[in-house]
Amino acid sequence: MQNHVCNSRHMSESSERVYEELTPRTMDAVLQFLEGASFDCEREAYECEAVGEITPEHMQRSIMLPYEIALTERSKKVVLTTGKNRSIPTTANFIVRRDTSRLSLHTHHIGLGQETTTPSFSDIYLTDFASPRTPLILAHRLGLTVYRRPILLDPSTLKPVRSDIRDTLLLWGEENNIDIFSFGGKNLRSPHDLTPNEKFSLERKFAAEANLIVEDGEWEDTQRIQGIMDYINLRRNKNS
Ligand SMILES: [Zn+2]
Repeated sequence: MQNHVCNSRHMSESSERVYEELTPRTMDAVLQFLEGASFDCEREAYECEAVGEITPEHMQRSIMLPYEIALTERSKKVVLTTGKNRSIPTTANFIVRRDTSRLSLHTHHIGLGQETTTPSFSDIYLTDFASPRTPLILAHRLGLTVYRRPILLDPSTLKPVRSDIRDTLLLWGEENNIDIFSFGGKNLRSPHDLTPNEKFSLERKFAAEANLIVEDGEWEDTQRIQGIMDYINLRRNKNS
């Protein structure tokens, strides 16, 4: 990824332009390129295979970029795809890998604010599509968080409530007076009326009540971070 940039250009389904680098680069080179690149992240996306060790420093650099990025696995290699300011990538190839590959990581960059250290409601919704073997990881200002499909307990039996995630979110929203999907009609608060901090604190509340977080490593906690980096470097399998 020098200045000549990419060997392949194509349009994604969402009609953004995708620049696909066909020669694998080290994470250092990919980040260096992105740090110097100027492009419209809402309409353009970059994708490149990252070879070599990915370090916690690389992950910390990646949350400084002004858009979310994602790491997925393709043929035992890590692929970096750039997303948008407030969303994960939307390119077709990324969406296929996101749900089934050995890795599904995305960032909440520091430009999103201080509080975006938990999976968002849309991240939670997407856990419905992820395969059980795919570790879901969020990189954020404070560290790395491994999360999973929400498990809500029935308050009377303390057994997990079995329902799909959309229903789980809807019911939880009703209990918390929020119309999470903006369906309207039920005298609940619209998510659009929430301040960012109200939204983040609801997301944190949901994460706690739905046992969403599997592992939370702060950047200073090198041992825990290293354990999560093993997923990112494809050395650790989920459920092993
Ligand atoms: Zn997210």
